[in-house]
Amino acid sequence: MAFLRSLSRCLSRSFSTSAAAASIPSAGGGLSPTFVGREKPRVVVLGTGWAGCRLMKGIDTGIYDVVCVSPRNHMVFTPLLASTCVGTLEFRSVAEPIGRIQPAISRAPGSFFFLAKCTALDTESHTVHCETVTDGAGKTTLEPWKFKVSYDKLVIASGSEASTFGINGVKEHAIFLREVYHAQEIRRKLLLNLMLSDVPGISENEKCRLLHCVVVGGGPTGVEFSGELSDFIIKDVHERYSHVKDYIHVTLIEANEILSSFDVRLRQYATNQLTKSGVRLVRGIVKDVQPEKIILNDGTEVPYGLLVWSTGVGPSPFVSSLQLPKAPGGRIGVDEWLRIPSVQDVFSIGDCSGFLESTGKPTLPALAQVAERQGKYLANLLNRIGKAGGGHANSAANVDLGAPFVYRHLGSMATVGRYKALVDLRQSKEEKGLSLAGFVSWFIWRSAYLTRVISWRNRFYVAINWLTTFVFGRDISRI
Ligand SMILES: Cc1cc2nc3c(=O)[nH]c(=O)nc-3n(C[C@H](O)[C@H](O)[C@H](O)COP(=O)(O)OP(=O)(O)OC[C@H]3O[C@@H](n4cnc5c(N)ncnc54)[C@H](O)[C@@H]3O)c2cc1C
Repeated sequence: MAFLRSLSRCLSRSFSTSAAAASIPSAGGGLSPTFVGREKPRVVVLGTGWAGCRLMKGIDTGIYDVVCVSPRNHMVFTPLLASTCVGTLEFRSVAEPIGRIQPAISRAPGSFFFLAKCTALDTESHTVHCETVTDGAGKTTLEPWKFKVSYDKLVIASGSEASTFGINGVKEHAIFLREVYHAQEIRRKLLLNLMLSDVPGISENEKCRLLHCVVVGGGPTGVEFSGELSDFIIKDVHERYSHVKDYIHVTLIEANEILSSFDVRLRQYATNQLTKSGVRLVRGIVKDVQPEKIILNDGTEVPYGLLVWSTGVGPSPFVSSLQLPKAPGGRIGVDEWLRIPSVQDVFSIGDCSGFLESTGKPTLPALAQVAERQGKYLANLLNRIGKAGGGHANSAANVDLGAPFVYRHLGSMATVGRYKALVDLRQSKEEKGLSLAGFVSWFIWRSAYLTRVISWRNRFYVAINWLTTFVFGRDISRI
């Protein structure tokens, strides 16, 4: 009897699911507005980066249902991403599934994660338009389908995009370093080139080209990646690819100074350290990127086998397309409470947002520490609004918002390879405070990031990866 009851429950559920699925491809499918008094208000979060994830972690799911829309189902611990490109760390160690950050997303009946990107907003009707992301589904790639999600509160935390400055060929031939799949692509290409260069009959010139790794952009990401690469060459290539060890080189191209956010003394230290590790520093501006070489402004041709592009970030096409007030630099403009003042119930945090000029506040740097603290602040603000009864759409007009968001810079860090790093704990280059370079800084860098890794599971992964790399060397299998 119990079996029949459960069978009939399953059948009725599968019929209603297929009916719902049938309605999904039409633009009308999705989540409708919540009922005041009967349902919890719904917070819709766009993005699973530092800002969106910190926000979701802090949201009181006793007050709100949380719906997250993002093209990836995990957060990337970006400060350690460069280490995964050469196998110092494994990819899993820097990716945190969203369901572990906010468990309600996988359990609560009104909370969901949708693997999709937001394509448009309708702030009048409190609705976001979404489209599923189906790339990577193999040969049977599904057609993306469209749906709508109604929100009571909307948080846009969709990040930024790598800047290419419109230079021809960058998108086609260079690899960015922003996502785990970029790091995977870099690792596969590096190992492929190492193996191809050892094949009989390959010319000397081709060998040199294949094993020339060029990094464009001397900010912290470009420098850290160059440092990781030179460590990999010095330790692992020399031991395991000794036939080609004299052919492999790293060149870092920067238009101005490397690490321009650090002071002169730390910059000089980084320059010396990288040079000692064999990284060639070239001052130049890239004019054109071709499949096997780049052309600099002065006409110099630089052949490459691997090209990594890391020249800063700018607004994504999605952010540019939104009909919302903009801050300097094209980011979404917010007030001191991170609200978009011209529309009800919409907030923006992280790299995609900036203070409106009218606030008189400077644009904050595109950093994880800014995004994370904005996420934490906004979670508290939304909880406060929800507790005061303003959680549902258009109901927060009279709620006291409390203190505005204030950012205090905690300092900057960057590794330069060979167990050396820079640590600058001052508010700005001009102020007094701790700033040092060397092994102690490297130890501070590692300890700081180990404690910042989101979960105990990943902290454990990272510590074990560091230990195994130290004892056995990096993994060089091309999987
Ligand atoms: C390699 C690397 C190293 C870094 N190291 C440091 C460091 O050491 N210290 C530091 O402070 N900062 C560092 N940063 C910068 C830091 O990672 C960013 O400032 C931070 O990730 C910004 O967080 P965010 O949430 O705004 O955006 P992101 O982390 O970029 O997340 C944006 C999210 O939005 C999603 N998204 C995009 N478009 C849409 C859409 N249309 N709809 C829905 N979702 C969308 C994306 O898939 C992603 O999940 C580093 C960055 C990189 C790339």
